[in-house]
Formats: sequence, C-alpha cells, structure tokens
Amino acid sequence: MTTRDRLMATATKTLARCLLPLAHLNAPGHARHVACQWALGVRYPAEDLRGLTPAAHAAFTTARTEAFWRDGQLIGLTSGHRDAAVQHRMYVADLQRSGLPRVLHPAESPHVRGVAMDVRPREGARWLEENGERYNLYRTYDNEWWHFEYRLRRPERLPYPGAVRAYK
Ligand SMILES: [Zn+2]
Repeated sequence: MTTRDRLMATATKTLARCLLPLAHLNAPGHARHVACQWALGVRYPAEDLRGLTPAAHAAFTTARTEAFWRDGQLIGLTSGHRDAAVQHRMYVADLQRSGLPRVLHPAESPHVRGVAMDVRPREGARWLEENGERYNLYRTYDNEWWHFEYRLRRPERLPYPGAVRAYK
C-alpha cells in the first residue's frame, strides 16, 4: 500500500464519518451502509454499480460496509455489469491479441448477467476472499485476484476463465 493510498483511505473514512448524520436522515437505520457507499463513490468516482442484479448489488454493498467499518478496508468496484456488446469487444480483442480465449464470450460472462464484480485494491480483494462467503461472494479464478461472483453455493475455483475442469 502506498502512502497516497493510505492518505486516501484515511480521508475516505473521515468523509464517511462526516456523512453519517446526513445518511441517517436519508435512510434511518442504515446510515453506516449509506455513508459507506457515498464515501467509496467519492474515493472511486469511476465505479458504476448499475446493472448488477439486486442480490449481487446487496451482497457487494453489505460486504464492503462491513469491510469498511469493522476492518477499515476500502473496496472499490472496477467493473461490474457489462453489456453484451462491450464484453464481445473485449472477447474479440483478447482473442486477436493472444490467440487463446481468456475472456469469456458474452453468452457465458457473469459480468453480462450482472453477477460478477472486479474489485480493487488488492487488499480489498484479499478481504473479500477471506470474508465474502458470508455474502455469497466468491473468487472464482486463480489468475484473477480481482474477480468475484455472487453464487448461492461456493463454486469450484478454476485456473482461468473458460477453463474446463480436468475431471469430475
Ligand atoms: Zn471479472
């Protein structure tokens, strides 16, 4: 963690505390949840939680509220829902670059279904890997520390997207 990250984390926590009274007026009983989302939205202005399914959205925001207030860990969303056209562009670009399908086709992508979340920073991903099960959030690939999915049961972790299990 860099000094800048540490300063930003401290500022974000201070901001969240300052926002608590306003959050309480907006959502009595859920002030900590709401203030946390507001403050993280300021820290990670490019994040966009729209398009996640209601269950995935609730799981993600509740998990990061706990990470934030209990453990002081910030978790931002780098990429959540993607529309099929965006995913298809990524799929084609990667295939042309690498010759191997490492990005899932839109028909298979949990990002297109609104149940996948790429998170940051690395420490936040580590927190989610250790604590996500309570919220049905699971890391699903060995090669993507940032990628989590909302699943009703713990999935088998695969080496990379699109990997086929060797035997079953
Ligand atoms: Zn992902």
